[in-house]
Amino acid sequence: MKPLWTFENWLSRSREEGLSLAEVILKKEMEATGAKKDEIMDGLEERLQVMRESLKAGLEREKTTPGGMIKDESKTLNHFFSNNRPITGSGVIKTAIYAIAIGQENAGMGRIVAIPTGGSAGIVPGVFFSIAEDKKLSDDQLKEGLLIAAGVGMVVGEKMGMAGASGGCQAECGVAAGMAAAGALFLLGGRGEEVFQAFALAVKNMLGLVCDPVGGLVEVPCVKRNGFAAVQALLAIDLVRGGLKSVIPPDEVVDAMADIARLLPSALKETAQGGLAQTKTGLNLSERLQ
Ligand code: SF4
Repeated sequence: MKPLWTFENWLSRSREEGLSLAEVILKKEMEATGAKKDEIMDGLEERLQVMRESLKAGLEREKTTPGGMIKDESKTLNHFFSNNRPITGSGVIKTAIYAIAIGQENAGMGRIVAIPTGGSAGIVPGVFFSIAEDKKLSDDQLKEGLLIAAGVGMVVGEKMGMAGASGGCQAECGVAAGMAAAGALFLLGGRGEEVFQAFALAVKNMLGLVCDPVGGLVEVPCVKRNGFAAVQALLAIDLVRGGLKSVIPPDEVVDAMADIARLLPSALKETAQGGLAQTKTGLNLSERLQ
């Protein structure tokens, strides 16, 4: 039987072959698809451009989403914080605004990159673009970060599905936060195991997060949740940079998430039968939609 693709053997392959973590994923993708390096990098460039366009569109969006629950959140925030200092810090609020902007685009049926899903599409680009602006990172560097995010998705995908309907929101926003943390730490010079530690710290704090969209639409709580998850990724990066480690190893964090996915009742897996979807307001909104 083919061995599972895990963080541990990703790291071993990197050490044994003298490749960076990003190069391991590039090579693995070339082996799996037969594609040439340039073709894969061009595909990543294309995705990066879509992410950039979705961010721009989200920041300018004023149109109400189909369910009427989201409108111009990122624009409103941008306006306020262009004249007011955030309590959290300028990099933190910028990251949250970017993630929310792309989340809005998804909710408004705009074009996004599902990384790993549409509902969580703002988290990785929100973190990457915010850091890229501050650190003046190039697109070539961002593409390496995307390779790391893709590799994280491969590891998780070996053990569980990344959809709210199968694993709850931990599988969407939680995994996206882990992808963003690992990818961005790599962009910031993190190497080896610490990249996976960033994943572990970000995801551990989102284990058990339920999927409870009001009216079954990817609007509430999804859009704002993108902002929160992106900030979670930033904190995971700084905790690792500051020397902290997850006591539970990254691969075991994935095991725990897969276990929780199995244990979560279906009412909390995108069916809108529990959580926020079943609050008085959630039900009223849902009824209005129908
Ligand atoms: S609450 Fe459900 S639908 Fe919304 S982002 Fe999370 S997993 Fe996706």
